[in-house]
Amino acid sequence: MSNRPVVIIPARSGEPALGWAEACAEADGIAVDLGFEEAAVCCIGSVLGPVAARLGRGSVVVCCEAQSFEPARWAETLASECGEAQVVLLPGSADGRDLAVRLAAILRRPLHAQCSSISAVQVERPRYGSTLLERVPVAGPFVATLAPGARATETPAEQDMVQVRSIDLAPAVITAEPQLVALQTPDPATVGLSDARRIVGAGAGVMSKDDSLEVNRSRFEVLTQVGLACGAALGATRVVTDAGYVDHGRQIGSTGVVVDPDLYIAFGVAGAVQHTTGLGNPDHVISVNTDPHAPMMALADLAITTDAPRTIAALAAQLAERTTEPAARPELHQSITPGSEAAT
Ligand SMILES: Cc1cc2nc3c(=O)[nH]c(=O)nc-3n(C[C@H](O)[C@H](O)[C@H](O)COP(=O)(O)OP(=O)(O)OC[C@H]3O[C@@H](n4cnc5c(N)ncnc54)[C@H](O)[C@@H]3O)c2cc1C
Repeated sequence: MSNRPVVIIPARSGEPALGWAEACAEADGIAVDLGFEEAAVCCIGSVLGPVAARLGRGSVVVCCEAQSFEPARWAETLASECGEAQVVLLPGSADGRDLAVRLAAILRRPLHAQCSSISAVQVERPRYGSTLLERVPVAGPFVATLAPGARATETPAEQDMVQVRSIDLAPAVITAEPQLVALQTPDPATVGLSDARRIVGAGAGVMSKDDSLEVNRSRFEVLTQVGLACGAALGATRVVTDAGYVDHGRQIGSTGVVVDPDLYIAFGVAGAVQHTTGLGNPDHVISVNTDPHAPMMALADLAITTDAPRTIAALAAQLAERTTEPAARPELHQSITPGSEAAT
């Protein structure tokens, strides 16, 4: 059997898991190193036709239609497709992580979780709240998840004529599969930064040495609330985390968390390369900075040359006015019933 790498893409309602394009690109890189043209792809989940087309593969895509999320059963099905593949790679999305542990157990292989880079001989993974990047030599077959946003990649062009090989879902292996009760949009206050779709980034421009510790601290609290009102999680630069205003787990960058939001709003962030390498590829970037020539301003779709603390205070005041009008309050924690189109 071939040791061609396999990348597994879970999908729900025609939507491939977060980080799918990066996982495919990483697996393809390994495949080329091992002498193959590209990695083998297996998709599992619901409404896979459009998913297979979006992957833009030249070779056959294995598809297993499965309506409800039954990770043990899915893993059992996928294990038989992994064969002798030295590397089995999944996106580090919620479903990818859930499947990877089960797959590693069934295949009796080590699991390297939430890596920032993966090859056939070595993986890199952040450790100790992302303060350390660990390089681990690997020998023999393994399963790995790639953290979403870990690498840049282009979204492949859709394939009109994709070759699909359909496989059946394995019989149920356990009686106690997790039951889906509801799908809920992630709470920006608690969501892991790498899963956050909107992020407000706090830079050194938010704090002032002329202000007391308390004043600076309360400004970060206000920014957190402004972010939450917009459905955005708080991230920060290293200058801010080193100053102790924001937890190190919320530091974005090469020695912090790698993110890939749809929207990034930077307040007083210079845009140093160590910060922006962790930003992924946001669809929209807004930057508030007193220096119009700051690199973050050049990266922004909307660059606002103004004072960050005053902007934060003005936004908080406007939001306070809006919360007195209940109809205008943003819906942040919309609950979605099972079977609906939307997913987390
Ligand atoms: C090995 C190494 C690893 C690193 N890893 C990371 C990392 O993971 N993440 C990270 O973020 N950094 C990292 N850094 C640090 C990085 O190089 C930068 O120093 C840092 O990102 C700068 O943070 P900053 O933009 O908040 O601060 P500054 O560079 O001080 O920039 C502050 C910005 O705020 C603006 N400003 C000032 N006052 C105001 C105001 N009143 N209103 C609006 N704007 C204002 C300024 O014009 C400036 O653009 C690393 C550095 C090294 C050497």
